[in-house]
Amino acid sequence: MGELVKKGFIDEEVLSKIKEDSDLSHFFQVKGRKKAKKSSSDVERNSEGYDNHRCCARVWKHEGGLGFDNIQCNSKNMIEPEKAESILRERDLTTEQEESIEGYLSTYDGCFCKKHLQIDFLMPNRYWLGKVNEPRPENPKLPLGSLKKGYTDEYKEHKWLFDSEGNKVEKKPRKKGGKKSSPSGLSNDEKKEFQEWKLAKEKAEQEKAEQEKGEETDEMDEEVNDGELDSDPEEILDDTPYIVDGITYKKHWCEEDKHFVILETDDYSVIGVPNDEGGIDFKDEEDEEKHKAMIAKK
Ligand SMILES: [Zn+2]
Repeated sequence: MGELVKKGFIDEEVLSKIKEDSDLSHFFQVKGRKKAKKSSSDVERNSEGYDNHRCCARVWKHEGGLGFDNIQCNSKNMIEPEKAESILRERDLTTEQEESIEGYLSTYDGCFCKKHLQIDFLMPNRYWLGKVNEPRPENPKLPLGSLKKGYTDEYKEHKWLFDSEGNKVEKKPRKKGGKKSSPSGLSNDEKKEFQEWKLAKEKAEQEKAEQEKGEETDEMDEEVNDGELDSDPEEILDDTPYIVDGITYKKHWCEEDKHFVILETDDYSVIGVPNDEGGIDFKDEEDEEKHKAMIAKK
């Protein structure tokens, strides 16, 4: 509606009249409803019992990289066994996969949503987090790849937030000092800058996500998207390539200081931090000179 005002289709006065009209009010409640649903925290969700009216997949939600082990997929659109075959065939399958459909379906009991059914079938060792009504896998390993591009048999290990006795695992703080890759050599001002940069970035991302949510149809509700997995759920914690002036560095999340740093790819030394322009705020002149020298060499 705000857009309509901006574009001049309606004015503020009309907008407020529309909003006050009780017959129309339900049009404006979608966002609020979604937000309310979202507000049940991961901690709460993790403490809930199994709901057999929802997809039984355990989903990956984490706190500082450690996963909750009892969060159930929100989707109520479970795929009945009779419909499962056509759902699986929606994907591009290899001959080998096509041949394994029958065997797979003989064990399928109808408890997955569309997304988790497909993932369960396509992951090399079935859905990596299993079902919430079955014991958790003690060493969950996420196969690299995605539902869209297919999975590989390379894995990334993940850790639970709770040990096998249910006690919360405390992450050991990393040792300070000594290691060159620790950015503790940065000044307090710089640290403050990172914090601000990070907050701004998070806010922008959150706003973007909300906007996209709003544009989705009901079919694509939170339920279906909730199961992550089209991308690595720990994306933010993983090193990602960071290319500046054609030179590839690594963007690394520094858990200790809660900000990103840029590392050199050969010895993982910290050379600076990402800046708003997609460049690097170099830690010192020496690092900047080195970068310039590398550009010159290209
Ligand atoms: Zn699901």
